[in-house]
Amino acid sequence: MKVMATWNHGVAANERALQVIKQGGSAMDAVVEGCMVTELDERQRSVGLSGWPDSDGRVSLDAAVMSDDSRAGSVACVRGVANPVQLARRVMDHTPHVMLVGEGAERFAQQQGMLVRDRALDHEQRARLDAWLQQAIRTPLVNVENHDTISMIALDASGRMAVASTTSGLAFKIPGRVGDSPIIGAGLFVERGVGAAVCTGLGEVVQRTMGAYAMVESMRQGLSPQAACEAFIRRLHVQIPESAECQVGVLAMDYGGRAGALSVQSGFTYAVGTAEDNTLHESAFTQDIKQDSPRNRS
Ligand code: ASP
Repeated sequence: MKVMATWNHGVAANERALQVIKQGGSAMDAVVEGCMVTELDERQRSVGLSGWPDSDGRVSLDAAVMSDDSRAGSVACVRGVANPVQLARRVMDHTPHVMLVGEGAERFAQQQGMLVRDRALDHEQRARLDAWLQQAIRTPLVNVENHDTISMIALDASGRMAVASTTSGLAFKIPGRVGDSPIIGAGLFVERGVGAAVCTGLGEVVQRTMGAYAMVESMRQGLSPQAACEAFIRRLHVQIPESAECQVGVLAMDYGGRAGALSVQSGFTYAVGTAEDNTLHESAFTQDIKQDSPRNRS
């Protein structure tokens, strides 16, 4: 068994995911339960209802899940739902669709017996929004600090894989904006027998390059998870040169439990958990990518 999760909060999410697998749960159960830990942590400002709001002062959330039998569920721009990752799983399990957005997703949550209630902004959310509204130039924040989506990969005891992602997206975004995190193939992807990949960071550049799919496809063609991460970041810089100015962090894992991680800027942390331990790491970043061919490394 092995689990990986983005950023510092990945440690607590992994802890829960490992517990779920140890108790006989599936990789899908593990990533959903793990992500829910972060969603319910009120200190998190980029995941769940305590996340930074959009420019209208409302928190809207995106989440998705995918299992290695190519089933997937996703929700985008949902408000008032404390656990959008659970809602994404319900979309997968209880509808013929992959993705529900906005009001339709909220109505579905209610039908599923989930509480849908807009929560008033807390003091810090209000203060940060007010400060942002005072600025002369109001562009949604695109910097290296405010991308802390939780994205997870799990390999369970019976050798199955699943991925999940959940986020409040870009701080003070234009209402209705959706990033990469709930887009299957962009923010997350898994293919049976090949491996899985997830992303965090500026969603717009990951959406335009189908990051997670690109990494899994590289693994399908024989690259190791680390080489697949490197191949993607190189390609990102070629396809979108301005991506060098933003932060994107990626994780990949194959069925042998080999792991890969890389980011554009320094400072991308991620947690790796096994039956023995659960530790935080900091990834290599663009400047560390060696010049030799990624195919030569494992
Ligand atoms: N990828 C997310 C988005 O663009 C942000 C993040 O990773 O924190 O919505």
